[in-house]
Amino acid sequence: MTNAVKQPLRVGVLGFGGLGQAAARVLAPKQELRWVAAADRHGYAYDPAGLDADRCRAAYRDRGSLGELHPQGCRSDHSIADLIARAQVDGYFLALPNLPNTFMADVARQLMQSGWRGVLVDALKRTSAMEQLLALHADLQQAGITYLTGCGATPGLLTAVAAIAAQSYAEIHEVRITFGVGIANWEAYRATIREDIAHLPGYDVEMAQAMSDAEVTALLDRTEGILKLENMEHADDIMLELAGICPRDRVTVGGVVDTRNAKKPLSTNVQVTGRTFEGQRSTHTFTLGDETSMAANVCGPAFGYLKAGAALHQRGQYGLFPATAVMPQFAR
Ligand code: NAD
Repeated sequence: MTNAVKQPLRVGVLGFGGLGQAAARVLAPKQELRWVAAADRHGYAYDPAGLDADRCRAAYRDRGSLGELHPQGCRSDHSIADLIARAQVDGYFLALPNLPNTFMADVARQLMQSGWRGVLVDALKRTSAMEQLLALHADLQQAGITYLTGCGATPGLLTAVAAIAAQSYAEIHEVRITFGVGIANWEAYRATIREDIAHLPGYDVEMAQAMSDAEVTALLDRTEGILKLENMEHADDIMLELAGICPRDRVTVGGVVDTRNAKKPLSTNVQVTGRTFEGQRSTHTFTLGDETSMAANVCGPAFGYLKAGAALHQRGQYGLFPATAVMPQFAR
């Protein structure tokens, strides 16, 4: 592992869609992190001296894959395996679709089998997907991998906020997370929108994964581009339970996604209700600034957790950690 004080951490991004591309832009000005590797479904790009976000986005957009970036790109139908085998990377952000719901756990197994050692962070959303990762704790320990899961916005930033807010209380009655997301065009975030559709009544992950782009567009036409989501299966619940804050059934997550307007349909917030030691019932409310995009609120925390994960890794602390087990640090 690179010494973070002297050398920047070498960072890879797996998945180069909406979040992966935003991650590249977030990384560009950072001195402590150097973005050296990225993969999409059809290829990868690697440059130990650092990749250029604009050139990578142009190759992906105009020629269909990072594999078309010259001379750093390489086309491959096994892009993750090929990149891991070749690249010197200290930590990866997994900006991949979790479709099917077992995909992220499969990628973790692939990384373990490759013999790679380092830090992983994800922006995983479903409780059942996080449970699969929790079962890999001992294997990750053995493999020398420090994997922080749930490092996006929700779960992630808002779960960390809830964990801090809970400290005022002797007992937590309820954690209510409500998000507003505005994106101008659903095709910029295909996996995010499919995974959100999977939460609608009458849909599941398999159905959402199987939908063609035309079917997604037709559904969004019927709802005027709006997805209203209630009682979502979100891993904020298991993370707060594991942190000892409250049983998972006291945590609710829902929100509204507008796929035709970059403006948020409502302000993202987390409300933490509890009883103080004096017997007072109260609610803390934390509201995100409306100007902060979903991408900013996912990628910022992901790299803050990556920095925190690197410190754990340097101390030989390997295994699977829900993000609430540590606090993100700020990566400059
Ligand atoms: P996207 O559909 O825009 O992009 C996915 C990328 O992954 C594409 O570049 C695709 O080529 C690549 N990919 C797919 N299969 C691959 C494979 N087998 N090997 C290599 N690359 C592969 O996705 P997105 O909208 O950016 O979402 C990414 C993930 O982030 C989703 O799982 C979503 O749920 C999650 N997310 C989490 C939060 C949060 O707050 N926790 C918020 C938003 C999105």
